[in-house]
Amino acid sequence: MTEKFIPLTDLRQVASTLPIPAILQPPNGLLKDTLARPLHDLRISVTDRCNFRCVYCMPKEVFDKNYLYLPQHALLNFEEITRIARIFVTHGVKKIRLTGGEPLLRKHLERLIEMLANLRTVDGKPLDLTLTTNGSLLARKAQSLKDAGLTRVTVSLDSLDDAIFKRMNDVDFSVSEVLEGITTAEAVGLGPVKVNMVVKAGMNDQEIIPMVRYFKDSPHILRFIEYMDVGASNGWKLDEVIPSAEVIRRIQDAGMPLTAIDANYTGETAERWRHADGSGEIGVISSVTQAFCHDCSRARLSTEGQLYTCLFASKGHDLRSLLRNAKQHSDLAITNVIAQIWQQRGDRYSELRSQHTDNFNPGRKKIEMSYIGG
Ligand code: SAM
Ligand code: SF4
Ligand code: SF4
Repeated sequence: MTEKFIPLTDLRQVASTLPIPAILQPPNGLLKDTLARPLHDLRISVTDRCNFRCVYCMPKEVFDKNYLYLPQHALLNFEEITRIARIFVTHGVKKIRLTGGEPLLRKHLERLIEMLANLRTVDGKPLDLTLTTNGSLLARKAQSLKDAGLTRVTVSLDSLDDAIFKRMNDVDFSVSEVLEGITTAEAVGLGPVKVNMVVKAGMNDQEIIPMVRYFKDSPHILRFIEYMDVGASNGWKLDEVIPSAEVIRRIQDAGMPLTAIDANYTGETAERWRHADGSGEIGVISSVTQAFCHDCSRARLSTEGQLYTCLFASKGHDLRSLLRNAKQHSDLAITNVIAQIWQQRGDRYSELRSQHTDNFNPGRKKIEMSYIGG
């Protein structure tokens, strides 16, 4: 057997040092970047580890027994995460999503959820506090997550066919356990559960119609995600992407007419569709064919406290060194550093990619999805 060689650069330590501005301003909750985009959404990765080896995210050839995960002391602890989250909220963040790696692998995650659930937005409301999971531990944990204050969950599921699903997660995990997780989450009040399916041509695109039929009369919202060129380990090729327009066409051709519906809010990643017969909703996330950078209001915090302003960034900003600095920086000082980073943000990777699809940025180094989360 020939071994697959995947060149990978470890970008986890590539972060710039952050000077504290000389004049400190109080936050006003109205921060804008260079393209006038606000900061509404914070995604926090709580672990870089996972019990799956999805072929498009953590291929076994790279994430094998020799792969060096972050050591425990490098990870932000719950007090540090909550402090950063509180600062982000003063800048206008309304929604926090916990991700990973597999977030349910982080020990005592419920304690972090309790701490985050106590935060209030600038207008005094509870946060929208969600989590994305592969569902493997969800049936067991759904009730304690709900009790801790989690609002909703999103579950990733790429197929209903055990053979295909196992080929994709590459750890022999069965569909039934994920389905049980989805049902339990809905039953304990973590719904409507969104079910995310990454569609990879030739691998699971034949599962589009069975997935739509299965979830059609349920309270869950199925969403199709275009396979993305995140990181460097998945060997992404454009011809493995099934455009969302094609997904919608296939569903309609299978005798299930759909009607487009409005977004819930500006900056929502999914385009929403409703079954014309009233039997539920589906979504498509067209990160490749219809970039939504123009209203991307998401910041991402890595497991060890680096701030990324784009999923396709090569470089983060090291917030952990500010938190752990001997000078004991005040919240206001860190607030101002974050403001400066956001005010300088001009990221729009996907828009640029869609303007230059042929051989776009071939040498660009990007962080891995399992490190920063989706
Ligand atoms: N482990 C959790 C899970 O799988 O839901 C959370 C982290 S995972 C990185 C977050 C989301 O990113 C999942 O829905 C996953 O399917 C998606 N994802 C990972 N790699 C992707 C890729 N190359 N293109 C599109 N989506 C991807
Ligand atoms: Fe793990 Fe999620 Fe990546 Fe799959 S997509 S390998 S479950 S982090
Ligand atoms: Fe946001 Fe970057 Fe994705 Fe554009 S490419 S939508 S800026 S994360």
